[in-house]
Amino acid sequence: AMALSDRILMGPGPSNPYPEVVSAFTRPMLGHLDPEFLEVLDQTCERLRAVFRTQNALTFPLSGTGSAGMEAVLVNVVRTGETVVVGVNGLFGERLCEVAGRLGAHVVRVEAPWGEPLDPDALLGAHRSPAVIAVVHAETSTGVRNDLEPLATGKGDALLLADTVTSLGGIPVEVDGWGVDLAYSGTQKCLGVPPGLAPLTVSERARGRFVDRPSSWYFDLGLISRYVEGGSGRTYHHTAPVSMVFALHAGLGALLDEGIAESWARHAACGRLLQDGLEKLGLELVAPPEHRLPQLTTVRVPGDLPAGMSEADVRGVLLQRYGIEIGAGVGPMTGTVWRIGCMGHTARPRNVELLLGALGEVLGR
Ligand SMILES: *Cc1c(COP(=O)(O)O)cnc(C)c1O
Repeated sequence: AMALSDRILMGPGPSNPYPEVVSAFTRPMLGHLDPEFLEVLDQTCERLRAVFRTQNALTFPLSGTGSAGMEAVLVNVVRTGETVVVGVNGLFGERLCEVAGRLGAHVVRVEAPWGEPLDPDALLGAHRSPAVIAVVHAETSTGVRNDLEPLATGKGDALLLADTVTSLGGIPVEVDGWGVDLAYSGTQKCLGVPPGLAPLTVSERARGRFVDRPSSWYFDLGLISRYVEGGSGRTYHHTAPVSMVFALHAGLGALLDEGIAESWARHAACGRLLQDGLEKLGLELVAPPEHRLPQLTTVRVPGDLPAGMSEADVRGVLLQRYGIEIGAGVGPMTGTVWRIGCMGHTARPRNVELLLGALGEVLGR
């Protein structure tokens, strides 16, 4: 049987970790207040500033997955009854609405059909004076990029909140350059680290609007900042996931050694190779070319699958015979598309060629 360590993870996440990340898990355990660990944590925050392209002091890896980042940014800036404009063209836009709604926000949905980008003018024109405009930069459910840059210029007094879970490391993200006030990400997508942390960054402008006593104690960023920014006077808030911080430190190190622009270029090249290859197999891509993500490709399940095979069988054979994982469609795209990730360490021409060869064989094309 094929070793599980040979799996090529081309689903929507997690991606394969960088080799440097795997060895980082073998570092000796340290206390979460040990100066040696705090040095690694500080370096990790500095590396995150480089990857988010920001000077924001409050930039750190939150304990929890990407969704924890979503909860944390919203719970710290949303007050009951305030208006939050949310772009909705996929699963994660829906989740933003759900979280903001539970906080008592007046949620104004600005929709686009699944598979199409949001209209920035519609987002800016949806309400006179929203507290927050929230957008998913890279919709992992559809493979569509929503542009953030046009929102910054027109946001007025609103805070611009961006989900960069699938974009960070894979396509350009310019937190300061684009005027993004709050952004969160996840470790397991284009950063090439296992799931478990939510890199997060907050502008001074957004900090000035923090809720006094947010309804979540665990995600109270004011309290957490006393640990992550406390210097020598740090105080305990919760125990940092030490080994995950080592892993993220190593993953960001690998990314920055390669170069952030080089990482974007590698993702772009792999995405193009994959998307061209799928079209050569006669398959149809879902996202429009100008808003197509290189790191997450949605492709329609063909109508002429081999006799007796369902779309799930195709994924099953790819996994069992070739050791390659791809993802299923979700929401209204359930059963009609596949989602193919090309993220982080997995975004290599070799992996793309292996998948294209395997898929061609399974489909008999
Ligand atoms: C994966 C993902 C999330 C959620 O992250 P988890 O790590 O699964 O909690 C949020 N937003 C987007 C765009 C994602 O792709």
